[in-house]
Amino acid sequence: MKLIDLNRDGGIGANSFYVQLGDLKIVVDCGLHPKKVGRAATPDFSPLRGVPLDLIIITHCHLDHIGSLPVLLREQPRAPVIMTAPSRMLIERMLHNSANVMARQRAEDNIPDYPLFTHDEIDRHASRLTPLSYGHAKKIRGAREEIEVMFHQAGHVAGAAGVEIHHKQRKLFFTGDVLFEAQRTCPAARFPVDHFDTLVMETTRGATERPAGKERVNEVARLVATINETIQRGGSMLIPVFALGRMQEILSIVHDARKFGRVVDCPIYASGLGIDLCDYYDDIARKTKQVNFTRQVLKELKVRPLPRKLEPGRLPAESALYIVSSGMVVENTPSYLIAAALAGHARHTLGFVGYCDPETPGGRLLAAQPGETFLFDKVNLRTKLKAHIVRFELSGHADRDELLDFAIHCRPRAIVLTHGDPPARAWMARALDGKLSKTKVIDPKPLQTYQV
Ligand SMILES: [Zn+2]
Ligand SMILES: [Zn+2]
Repeated sequence: MKLIDLNRDGGIGANSFYVQLGDLKIVVDCGLHPKKVGRAATPDFSPLRGVPLDLIIITHCHLDHIGSLPVLLREQPRAPVIMTAPSRMLIERMLHNSANVMARQRAEDNIPDYPLFTHDEIDRHASRLTPLSYGHAKKIRGAREEIEVMFHQAGHVAGAAGVEIHHKQRKLFFTGDVLFEAQRTCPAARFPVDHFDTLVMETTRGATERPAGKERVNEVARLVATINETIQRGGSMLIPVFALGRMQEILSIVHDARKFGRVVDCPIYASGLGIDLCDYYDDIARKTKQVNFTRQVLKELKVRPLPRKLEPGRLPAESALYIVSSGMVVENTPSYLIAAALAGHARHTLGFVGYCDPETPGGRLLAAQPGETFLFDKVNLRTKLKAHIVRFELSGHADRDELLDFAIHCRPRAIVLTHGDPPARAWMARALDGKLSKTKVIDPKPLQTYQV
């Protein structure tokens, strides 16, 4: 089997793998780097030049896995694309949103490459995107050989899948982004307990130890307590979230808490794509039963849209809870403007519930010391950090020890690390070497060909 990591920057970026099994040529995921811009944000497709793909597989609909798909589809006019049914329901909405964002960035930031694709292109390719149910084997035939593909529930977000691929006697497994614990909105991953020859495994939390006492249920309680403390001292709290998955999960947590009278009454602001995706989650829940969410949550929480024009330093005077994207507080997003408004005052709280790239404003806020001067450069605001900055271990990604256990159960001949910053991959490589001495652990260099 031949394997190339097309994610040109390593780390967690434009996730995409090229895999050749016999004469079958496939690509798994096709992401867009969250903080690079223009063509540099896509995977490097140069190894695919003149290589007609037989199949493209999408593990789930976060942009770091699908954001460059229309670019690849343009270059691969015949390759079919498969994904789970919930992902099929989400993917067009996600891509159209991305096209809007890129069109805006082209104008605001003068990025001539943008948009990388148009709304019209998304529509034209839509018929090539087909759903495959979890647990159903699909045969894909190449010129001479065939493979069998099966999706397994991966937790994480609606529609997320681990991908099992059989070719002759060999078995390959991609974890995709995975969470082995149940969330309010999504059931836990259900991965096969089987031997795999090759395992391609995410490592997002490889450098993060879950401290004792910070189990998910305790972290939910601590989040609710922090909301209460903040509102009661007259402050506001920002929870930056990814529009897909984290927003619905956090709204569900707050909704549950309010149902049992555990959270104080305060205005809740949420808007943008995430609110739209609440409707999609409702739809997916009714049609596929694969998530647990209803749009009633928005009604019962009386969620309000953000004021149209947000100016940093000016927020509604009352104490409020802001559940808004981007999750990494990327420049010029609602969470960035609200963070800029709250960061300089001790009564407010910035509460992080998911992964932040260390170089994004979210990552830098998490690493900053209290009292440090912080520059919100896009709004030309320099402020001393006085707000409480709190991290909650409520990530949509598996703990590193759970990934390690899964890898040990698979007894693979080779493990390929992916979707992790260098320290995360390094921890995982060391831990795997210690536990699986016969397994070859590969931390792939971008664009290098590996025979595994
Ligand atoms: Zn993801
Ligand atoms: Zn991801």
